[in-house]
Amino acid sequence: VALLHHPVLDRQGTVATTTITSLDVHDLARSARTYGLPALYVVHPLPSQRELCARILKHWLAGPGGRRIPDRAAALAGVVLVDSVGEARAALADATSGPVELWTTAARPRGGETCSHAAARALLATAGPAVLLCFGTGWGLAPEVIDRADVRLAPIVGRAACGYNHLSVRAACAITLDRLLG
Ligand code: SAM
Repeated sequence: VALLHHPVLDRQGTVATTTITSLDVHDLARSARTYGLPALYVVHPLPSQRELCARILKHWLAGPGGRRIPDRAAALAGVVLVDSVGEARAALADATSGPVELWTTAARPRGGETCSHAAARALLATAGPAVLLCFGTGWGLAPEVIDRADVRLAPIVGRAACGYNHLSVRAACAITLDRLLG
């Protein structure tokens, strides 16, 4: 899983950069660990943001946080700070010694044909390339990420056609992982 803070969209639909939210990192790290994923890549181009996140991780991995709640340390041990999607993809390719597919998620169908969760689950159940599953922040992943995806997952939608669909990235990641790997 990769949590992108750039390139993402802002309210006006322009490409922006968001700040790292500690809650997102904790939540997605716990979900990734629960579903047996090797890493959560936290993508941020600003060194100062990556340093802030590294300080939070240090508190939990080598400080009082980890001593108080070892389970949380186990989840956060899988967090890898990178400056771009490309760096995350290269790191995963290195870790798995092979090709990496880029998969994206979105609250609305974007960028062309989408893949259902059931079909994506079947793809993951068969031997194939490693997958970097990207989640956005702000108002979603920027088109430059969506457009180069190998697989664009269909949006999570409730059965009730209520017209509302604004999941947090934390909820979206947990639901997606359960549909793909639960
Ligand atoms: N600050 C916001 C938050 O987390 O509450 C950020 C929202 S961000 C746009 C939501 C991200 O979660 C999207 O980029 C996408 O990766 C994922 N997401 C949200 N709703 C989704 C849905 N219905 N289906 C699939 N993914 C969704």
